[in-house]
Amino acid sequence: MSDQPPVVGPRTEALLAQMTLDEKAAVTAGSGFFELRGVPRLGLADLHVTDGPNGARGSSFLGSGEAEAVCIPCGAALGATWNPSLVEELGALLGDETRTKQSRVLLAPTVNLHRSPLAGRNFECFSEDPLLTGKLAAAYIRGVQSRGVITTVKHFVGNDAEFQRNTVSSEIDERTLRELYLVPFELAVKEGHTLGVMTGYNRLNGTFCAAHPWLLTKVLRQEWGYDGFVMTDWFSGGDTVGSALAGLDIEMPGGDRAYGKHLAVAVADGRLDESVLEAMVTRQLNALERMNALDDEPGPEVNVDRAEFRALSRRAAAEAIVLLRNDPVGEAPILPLAPSRLRSIAVIGQNSARAQIMGGGSANLRPFHRTSPLATLRARLGDTVSIIHERGCSIDRTAPNLQGDEIAAANGQGGFVVEVFDNRDWVGQPIGTTSRDTSRLFFAAEAIPGSGPEFSVRATTAYTPTQTGVHSFELVQISHGRVRLDGQLILDGVTNPPPIGGSFFGIGSEPMTAPVDLVGGRTYELVIEMQTVAGGLFSGLDFGVRIPPDPDGIARAVAAATAADVAIVVVGTNDDWETEGEDRTTLALPGDQDALVRAVLAANPRTVVVVNTGAPVELPWAAEAPAILQSWFGGQEMADALVDVLVGDRDPGGRLPTTFPVRLEHNPSFGNFPGSNGSVRYGEGVLIGYRWYDTRHLPVLFPFGHGLSYTDFAIGAPELSARTIGTGEGLTVRVPVTNTGSRPGSTVVQCYVAPHQSRLDRPTKELKAFGKVELAPGESITLTFQLDDRSFSYYDPAQPEWPALRQYVTGMLPMTADTPRRTEPGWTIDNGTYDIVIATSATEEHHRATVTSGG
Ligand code: BGC
Repeated sequence: MSDQPPVVGPRTEALLAQMTLDEKAAVTAGSGFFELRGVPRLGLADLHVTDGPNGARGSSFLGSGEAEAVCIPCGAALGATWNPSLVEELGALLGDETRTKQSRVLLAPTVNLHRSPLAGRNFECFSEDPLLTGKLAAAYIRGVQSRGVITTVKHFVGNDAEFQRNTVSSEIDERTLRELYLVPFELAVKEGHTLGVMTGYNRLNGTFCAAHPWLLTKVLRQEWGYDGFVMTDWFSGGDTVGSALAGLDIEMPGGDRAYGKHLAVAVADGRLDESVLEAMVTRQLNALERMNALDDEPGPEVNVDRAEFRALSRRAAAEAIVLLRNDPVGEAPILPLAPSRLRSIAVIGQNSARAQIMGGGSANLRPFHRTSPLATLRARLGDTVSIIHERGCSIDRTAPNLQGDEIAAANGQGGFVVEVFDNRDWVGQPIGTTSRDTSRLFFAAEAIPGSGPEFSVRATTAYTPTQTGVHSFELVQISHGRVRLDGQLILDGVTNPPPIGGSFFGIGSEPMTAPVDLVGGRTYELVIEMQTVAGGLFSGLDFGVRIPPDPDGIARAVAAATAADVAIVVVGTNDDWETEGEDRTTLALPGDQDALVRAVLAANPRTVVVVNTGAPVELPWAAEAPAILQSWFGGQEMADALVDVLVGDRDPGGRLPTTFPVRLEHNPSFGNFPGSNGSVRYGEGVLIGYRWYDTRHLPVLFPFGHGLSYTDFAIGAPELSARTIGTGEGLTVRVPVTNTGSRPGSTVVQCYVAPHQSRLDRPTKELKAFGKVELAPGESITLTFQLDDRSFSYYDPAQPEWPALRQYVTGMLPMTADTPRRTEPGWTIDNGTYDIVIATSATEEHHRATVTSGG
């Protein structure tokens, strides 16, 4: 508990003394879309912030722009590494990257929990388990902040889905909050020492998180001792005086909706004491001062593609890949492949040629490097192994953007040449040019410096389709756009703008579509024009082309698999299916991918299935597939990491950070997801993820913590420092681990605590410690787990109203025993017996040892 005000730095103190009321109020609101507002008169510049969390994307928005960045594996993939020190290294990489984007605040990490596998942003979040999430979050934060960059751990709290995300009320009881959803934030504060927190869009039990005094002041500041700043999510709800009194410091982005000038008025009117505003400004400036960021004069963004960052991203992607199955086919398992004994590989699936390396939404960026499993297999094995590719079937939800070899700008580079006009109607000479490498064109305030907020662009490329037949052109617009092919107007959202649809967080239009007959191999001039619309904070459009349907795709894939020594099928989703702004509605893989996998498995038993998703999907053929790898959205180096694992250059290092259910209906949130009538009830309470499947004895497809290695490990019996536990005493658990196989490899030992009894219902067991080890053949190590009071406790909300109720029992029925009841809420350990469970997944136990509490 801490009510101590933060120690205020000298620079903050001096600035504050000079700031007028209006200036203090002004800095509580952003200035542009991604800037904190400074005070120019005092030499305090506006300061850039950047998303987050799988890279520091800089000014490129939704993957469109000129800023390029390292794309590290997505949050769920980091969860699968179970490796805080690796995540801390990645944090430092992201801190350095953030500096190249001239930002001192990274809008990350995302630490909401995987409550439902359908939640749109699960790929951004680490795990269904609060401890694993919190330990990784703290490591990530330590890494980023070690480079002078503030993290804003997000989204505080109960923002575990995208349904009605700007207004939904997450109905979560206090015990569930304390034991699950608050824990990652608590560890981010206490162990990561984050200097920023971002509130969720949602309401928590009826009150907007951005105006929630219990959350922002009582829990975050008073109980956890947090002394950084609290910032809103972009355009989230809140109110001027209510949010200020609740403990919110900054409203983002710019625009002064509730904060900024409104706070000056509130102080002048006497509705808000100036000391509250001063405290808000102090927390912001002080956090920046602690990072030496107060006197930053942002320079130009730079793209610095560093070999060591690529290497680290590749190592991380391999450490995230989970080997779900590796059953023998004939003599031995298929994996790892022995390329010297292979003559041919059939590489099948849309994602094998166009790998999904990140999810959709604000996390999307323009990576330094993009390759595919197909291209990488060709590059690494193509000299000796014949590699045949078949797409099999389409997985597209919307028409895919044009990119890569299909488009070539007139300047000899790929992509589009974009001419920029300083008026909305393409009048006169362009004032400059920029470029884009896909047909997704987004712009923030200005297209290029000097274009002003009202501009138009003309993007031109040479488009060479590979297929002949009727293609479908599709355009979704935020502002207005139109498309011409060889001079002919094909789509026109300028004269006839369509109504708003569901894409781009609900601000994109309904798609416009047009069938176009094209000849494969012929080159067409494609021109996309866009104009800004008054009042838009950013502008853009998304153009894509669906190629003609291919009724023989699966048959050709079967023929390729039949002829090959081994088939590798890469199935998955993409950033249209797994994206911020929308939850999925089904766990099934999109398109005919299940039929494709079954057909390939029937054609060639030596088939490896790679699942390229950010969250669990149903794998109805899993029992028939001898080898399955989960690659997640593994970042820009995913393809090389995957090949490293396929050929055994690296052990598959990942373990599931989230349960793969047999079916959606088994998931604990089922029936309470995504919500209705403006709220979502967390009816499963503390039984998230494996806590539910375990306690309910429900079968799962693959359990939490599961993942195989190419080598074998012996997990020895745990040695406990004591057989009894007392308050504050802690317990040390030592577990010997030996690599008994013939290859180097890694394993994750998990330590769960299982109470035999409890006054309140508790999960059968809960993860309380874990350790990852990488060992050479024959090597041994002893892992040490430190358990504390919290490892054995539950949060008891107690019955504070009992003294008032007591009279209705003892007063009216004097013969009734006056049994004492708990009236003080808090963490509590029941007397009794607890098992310490040493396991390598929620269902694969190796040892149990017993301790008792309370004599
Ligand atoms: C997201 C945040 C993100 C912000 C800025 C919001 O839509 O929810 O996670 O940091 O946009 O891009």
